[in-house]
Amino acid sequence: MKRLALHWQILFALILATLTGVIFRTLFNGQAPDGTLVAKSLGFSQFVGDLFMQALKMIIVPLIVTSVISGIASLQGVKGFGRLGAKTFGFYAMSSLIAVITGLLLVNLIKPGMVDGKPNEVIRKVFDAKEASASEAELATVATANMRESKDFLDTIKMMVPENIFAAATNNGQMLGVIVFSLLFAIAITKLPADEMRTLKEFFQAGNDVMITITRWIMAISPIGVYALMFPVIFKNGPDVFAEMAKYFATVLAALGIHMFVSLPLVLTFVAKVNPWAHLRAMREALLLAFSTASSSGTLPVTMRCVQDNAGVSKRTASFTLPLGATVNMDGTALYECVAVVFVAQVLGYQLGFGEQFMIVTAALLTSIGVAGIPSASLVAILLILKNSGIPDAQAATAVVALLSVDRLLDMARTAVNVFGDSCAAVVIATSEGEKVLEDATA
Ligand code: ASP
Repeated sequence: MKRLALHWQILFALILATLTGVIFRTLFNGQAPDGTLVAKSLGFSQFVGDLFMQALKMIIVPLIVTSVISGIASLQGVKGFGRLGAKTFGFYAMSSLIAVITGLLLVNLIKPGMVDGKPNEVIRKVFDAKEASASEAELATVATANMRESKDFLDTIKMMVPENIFAAATNNGQMLGVIVFSLLFAIAITKLPADEMRTLKEFFQAGNDVMITITRWIMAISPIGVYALMFPVIFKNGPDVFAEMAKYFATVLAALGIHMFVSLPLVLTFVAKVNPWAHLRAMREALLLAFSTASSSGTLPVTMRCVQDNAGVSKRTASFTLPLGATVNMDGTALYECVAVVFVAQVLGYQLGFGEQFMIVTAALLTSIGVAGIPSASLVAILLILKNSGIPDAQAATAVVALLSVDRLLDMARTAVNVFGDSCAAVVIATSEGEKVLEDATA
């Protein structure tokens, strides 16, 4: 019997998790007191989900190192590398700018934080109520966000040169340092005598093949992982949470939808001259996984596989654009930051003029570079931008707690857009380098 394709299996797991999550939630009123069977099932599900995420994260460092080194060492010296770098960063900047502008237009047009031109009092009460009822975990998240040194543009540059490469590799937030070190290592390999160069290239190539095999193994169990991750999420976040902020949800999802299904496909059609739907098909597994895990870093191994195996992008281009993209290019996150900040200002009754909105756009672009590819990471950046827009600290913090409590669905959607944006960058850069992409797509 032919086995069901993996993306169908993942989709099936998502649907099953939603169904069982809703059933359990209805049966048990969304409550899971300690020691009950439902609490135990949720705990077990969380355990399996964590195990799956950890397996994905486990391979990120060796995968980035081996793929960047083996991919870049095959470039023709520093010249080819510089050209690739300029194009890649140019594309990241342009696509994030388009995303941010889309978000800004929609949030100003729909005004999700207002009713009849006045701040929405119902949502305002939700924000205020959050102050009283914010769970300790939620407050702790925001408090850590407050304390954690925010990463601005200069901090990000600093992170590119870690003082200790091993410390950088063991710290999730320091992936940029690992990438830059791998790039330097790869360029240095091309300067070695032919014999030594071949040995090292073959070594890292073989290492990369091993990592790809392990990725396949982990992906084989991904439907179980996806189910385990989604079931507790659905159980905890019933549809009622979303009712109050429906207009806000609609604004964010519409803006993300425009970016993913209109703007980026137009770029693929006119700049890369490829069929955008074929590319969407090629990326199915990675997009579903990004959606289920809300982590673009965690999805990276699968993004790399889809871009190379299904879309046909060369290893050289994929291994340059994707690890970098997963770390610094976040179209969905930049868009979301913009919408969220303007929304909070609308609810709290702050007027944002052109100057302030311009500041928000710039801040969203720059902070999205520093946001980590993990769930809810952009809330830290949102808090930072809110404070910089002159909104008092306490108000900004309660608003962020309220956003955090309804964040999951929006996080899943923006992470899928982040991953899709990176994959489009890979395709556009590949075609500009003369590669034949998506021609014999095997998706
Ligand atoms: N969860 C997002 C990602 O992994 C980051 C964020 O916007 O919170 O790409």
